[in-house]
Amino acid sequence: MIWVCTRCGYEVESEQRPDLCAMCYAAMHHMVPKKVESEEKPEEKKD
Ligand SMILES: [Zn+2]
Repeated sequence: MIWVCTRCGYEVESEQRPDLCAMCYAAMHHMVPKKVESEEKPEEKKD
């Protein structure tokens, strides 16, 4: 998955949350999972 640094916007692909941002060295809690628009179903439609 892809993690995004909320401080500098740096993106890194990793299985686990990175310990530090490689760009600005923000702590890991600044790294948030990036939303990927893949197979997300918006809403179920019932007719
Ligand atoms: Zn950063």
